[in-house]
Amino acid sequence: MAESTLAVRDLRFAYRRGAEELFGGLSHDFEPGQVTAVTGPSGRGKSTLLHVLGLLLTPTAGEVLLDGRDVSRVRDSARSAIRASRVGFVFQDSELDQARKVIDSVLEPALYAGNSRQERLAHARELLDRFGLAERANHRPGQVSGGQAQRLAVCRALLNSPDIVLADEPTGNLDRGNAELVLQTLRSTAVGGSTVIVATHDPFVLDQVDRLVAL
Ligand code: ADP
Ligand code: MG
Repeated sequence: MAESTLAVRDLRFAYRRGAEELFGGLSHDFEPGQVTAVTGPSGRGKSTLLHVLGLLLTPTAGEVLLDGRDVSRVRDSARSAIRASRVGFVFQDSELDQARKVIDSVLEPALYAGNSRQERLAHARELLDRFGLAERANHRPGQVSGGQAQRLAVCRALLNSPDIVLADEPTGNLDRGNAELVLQTLRSTAVGGSTVIVATHDPFVLDQVDRLVAL
């Protein structure tokens, strides 16, 4: 896997003109091989920062550098391509498609990246197995608990072995054992060379990350 470098320079964001400005001109290099936690009180912009890093929101000022190139304002198709091939996103309140089987939800990012279902099926099963969800593969999301849905969201984000993983409060609904499992998986993903960024205020997570960015 090529090591990617993700960085922000002089970053600012406001949801609309006149709204509170977030990040205060943040500059930071997110290191590959490390888990970085973005922390800070509720409402400070942790989730928004992950959306900006994942190219889902365009900064009001400043840059998002991927391998040294400002990708924050490239055209939509190029952004989608970067997201599909390189970014795995664990959303805070992952909404799984109720009509779809669990295994198909986990496999969906393969299609965005242009891989066939067949190519990724073994990896999807391996991820479900690691998170104790193997026997849920053919269930519908309505039949899984909140904690299981959160672990599924992690499986989905890791399916394409992305070199950038953005996880928004990934341990929020989990008991200690499952929080440990998610954290271990994120750590081993980082050790494999990915840049892993976790928005969290969970002290259990904060204790175990390599770097902190406080908003
Ligand atoms: P955190 O994740 O640290 O709790 P957020 O990034 O969710 O913070 O929110 C930062 C600020 O932006 C808050 O004041 C929040 O109310 C506001 N905000 C978040 N999402 C939106 C949105 N879609 N539209 C307008 N304001 C928003
Ligand atoms: Mg948040």
